[in-house]
This record gives sequence, structure tokens and C-alpha cells, in this order.
Amino acid sequence: MVLHSINPATGQIINAYNEMSPEKVRDSIQKTHRSFLEWRQIPFSERALFLKKAALLLNQNSEKFARLMTEEMGKPIKQARAEAEKCAWVCEYYADNAELFLQPEVIKTDASKSYVTYQPLGIILAVMPWNFPFWQVFRFAAPGLMAGNAAVLKHASNVSGCALAIEEMFFEAGFPDSIFTTLLISSKQVNSIIENPLIAAVTLTGSAPAGKSVAKKAGKMLKKTVLELGGSDPYLVLPDADLEGAVSTCINSRLINSGQSCIAAKRFIVPEIISDDFENLFVEKMRSKKMGDPLQEDTEVGPQARTDLRDDLHRQVMESIQNGAKCLLGGTIPEGKGAYYPPTVLTNVRQNMPAFDEELFGPVAAIIRVQNEDEAIHVANKSSFGLGAAVFTKDIEKGEKIASELLEAGCCFVNESVKSDPRLPFGGIKESGYGRELSHYGITEFVNIKTVYIK
Ligand code: NAP
Repeated sequence: MVLHSINPATGQIINAYNEMSPEKVRDSIQKTHRSFLEWRQIPFSERALFLKKAALLLNQNSEKFARLMTEEMGKPIKQARAEAEKCAWVCEYYADNAELFLQPEVIKTDASKSYVTYQPLGIILAVMPWNFPFWQVFRFAAPGLMAGNAAVLKHASNVSGCALAIEEMFFEAGFPDSIFTTLLISSKQVNSIIENPLIAAVTLTGSAPAGKSVAKKAGKMLKKTVLELGGSDPYLVLPDADLEGAVSTCINSRLINSGQSCIAAKRFIVPEIISDDFENLFVEKMRSKKMGDPLQEDTEVGPQARTDLRDDLHRQVMESIQNGAKCLLGGTIPEGKGAYYPPTVLTNVRQNMPAFDEELFGPVAAIIRVQNEDEAIHVANKSSFGLGAAVFTKDIEKGEKIASELLEAGCCFVNESVKSDPRLPFGGIKESGYGRELSHYGITEFVNIKTVYIK
């Protein structure tokens, strides 16, 4: 099989990569294992130097990496640059903190000495998506490598250029050869890689079907998994919210990465008393967003990453309208080349419509009108997903209670859009997956939490 990188803004093939054979994959994993046996003995302080160098390279080459991302998956260039810089941040963060996070923990028992030590597991297989082609990789790789693990990456088939650039960057930063290896393969080879005894665990970021498939195989092989899957984040705007500010935040979150973010705001839940005002303002601001060439600095919405994904999004919009949703803006595929889809607003969205039940992975907002706050919370939780959620209100005490106790999601924000931050744990519940990335929680997902007892 050949893996194609196609520029979604133009439809042109940028590059074609031959898939690695199973034999080549096995050899690569062997090499990574040999590298791991040395890497695990290297002290934290030395590992940190390599990661600091990686951070430097990411910052120095942010323009080059940004262009690569934009050409392969259509991300607006400004956002691509910011992504490279955020990767540098997560490298710095774990270089500075990993040793502290993984310090042995002494526990008093009747032993003369008993404690917990955190030991690396081995090679972690990472199956990653195209939407944040650098960030998704670094947020698992930075803690993983600092913990003493090695990594093999199976990236999404449309971003092989990014996958190779990341591998090369780690090598240039001085990491031992093969400690981070890119495998250019289709998803069909993933199961046999999970079977390889040298693979210790698997982390997958992607859709729920991909997560279920990988978890099934890993479960059969008794290998640990972390799954970061899709979301349909509800944003509750309560009647006392600063409407202007809330609408702007909601829209920016809906449109991040041209709408293709797991933690983008997707369902906007608004009590009737303010819903006309909310909708008017929402449509006006959405209409002003500039869609176009992702290489232009002022572009706010680029193309979707692939034409088939754009077409699937349009099908979800059409089906929602057929089932009673009202389209207030957008909803048509523009003429011309490129996988573009315009900022779109649907209202009167209810259950049993794709806009409510499924994830809309593109610039389409689903507004749901409710009677009151209690119904807003009920509707927010009536989702198979549970990744992020946000609530907007001037009553901070109430907002905090809703966020901390009432919303069913892994990350709940008050008067702010959901975002990832190296210092805070990130992950979901329900069909959004399990396990956590980032913070001290992320680095302990793939270690042997080992008890040592000395009589
Ligand atoms: P996807 O189709 O599930 O692909 C993700 C990765 O899984 C790709 O590398 C893909 O390889 C691979 N894959 C697909 N099916 C597989 C299978 N049956 N067995 C093994 N591997 C398989 O998702 P996507 O379209 O790239 O990304 C969008 C999804 O990711 C959205 O649902 C989004 O919400 C989610 N996401 C979640 C997070 C989070 O942190 N929770 C972050 C970003 C994105 P191929 O490309 O070769 O098919």
C-alpha cells in the first residue's frame, strides 16, 4: 500500500510513501528495543538535556514544521506555528519536572524500608491522528521518553511527512538512534504490532471505533492502553452570562483547527430566555470568520483535512436538517477545489440528529434550546461522549458547582473554552476514552509502579 499526503487546499499530491513491510516493522521494533535497554539506564538529568534540545529545535524550526502541517492537513498557518511552539513547551515542562514526578515514594510499614519506585515499561506503541499532527505526538512522547520508555509511532496515513519530521527532529536533538521510531504503515498492521512481545503498551488518540479496535486487541494481549477519543463538548450559556464574551469564546472554540479538534465546542446549550439574542450574535460573528488559503496569515478557517471527511460532515448536517434542525448559516459545499466547508450554524438541534448524537468534526455549531438550567445540564450529559464541557455564568460559585459536580466530562471549564495545558491532566470518560495525558498523571500511565520491601 502507498500512503499519500494530499494538500487539502489544492487536492494536489505532495508525496507518496511506500508502506513498510511487516519484516521491516519487526526489525525496527527490535532496534528500538535495543535502544531502550540503554536508554532506561540514563539518568533523568541527561534525558532532560535531550528533551531541552528538542524544545529548542521545535522553536527554531517552528516555521518549517508549521508549513509541513499546513500543507499536509490544511491547518491555518498561525495555528500551526503555535502548535510547534506548544510542543516545545511540553518538552520543557517534562524536562523540568519528570524527575520530581517520578521520585521514589517512601511508605512506612513494618519493613526496615519500603517504598514505591517508578520504572519504565519498554516500547509504547502510539497510534495518532492527523488533526494536531505534532502536538498529539509530543504530549505522549515527552513524558514517555522522560520516564525511560521508548516509542514507536503509527501516525495517521495522511501526515507521513510530519511523522518523519518528528523522528528526524528527535535524532537531531541527540536522542539515541531508534528510541523514537516512525513506522509508515496503514492501520491494518496495528494488530500484529500489538502482538509483538517487545511492545509493552499502547496509546491511541483518534475516533471511538479505532479506540475500540485497538483496546480489543490490546486487551486480548493484556497490554495497557490509554485512549483519547472523540468528543461532543457541550457549552452551557446561562442567562446571566456575559453574552458577547461567551459567544466569542464559543465561536473561537468551535472553529479551532477549522473545527477539527476533539475539545472544540460542539453543542451550545442555551435557555429560551436568551436564545434569540444568542443565535443572532452567534450567526453574525460566525459569518465574519474568514475561510480560505491556510497559508495566508489572516485565514481563520482552512479546508477540512480530507475531502471524504468534509463530505461526511456535510452528510451529518443534511441528515440533521432532514430531522428538523434549522440551518441559520452555511451548510453548502463551496464551488471550486479544496476540501472546504463553511462556518455553519444549526439550531433546534435535538436528540436523534447527527448534530446531537455524533461528533461533528468541522466548523458546524449545533445550538440546542432548553427551558432552564436544570434541563441544560441534563441535555449536556445526554451524550455518549465525556471529554470536555464549559459553562458561562457571572455566578462563579454556581458555575464551579456545575463544572466540578454536575457535568459528566474529563475537563470542565468555567467562562473559558476547554484547552490542554501541560500542567493539567487531560482525558475523557464514557466514549471519549480513559486514562490521562499531561501533568504528573500523564507520566505515570506508562510506568511500572513498583513496590520495594526490605525486611
Ligand atoms: P481515526 O480515523 O480514528 O484515526 C486515528 C488513528 O488511528 C490513525 O493513525 C488511524 O490510521 C488509526 N486507525 C484507524 N482505525 C484503526 C483501527 N481499526 N485499528 C488501528 N488503528 C486505526 O481518527 P482521525 O480521523 O485521524 O482523528 C479524528 C478523531 O480523533 C476525532 O474523533 C477526534 O475527536 C479524535 N481526537 C481525540 C483527541 C483526544 O485527545 N481525545 C485528540 C485529537 C483527536 P489511518 O490514518 O491509517 O487510518
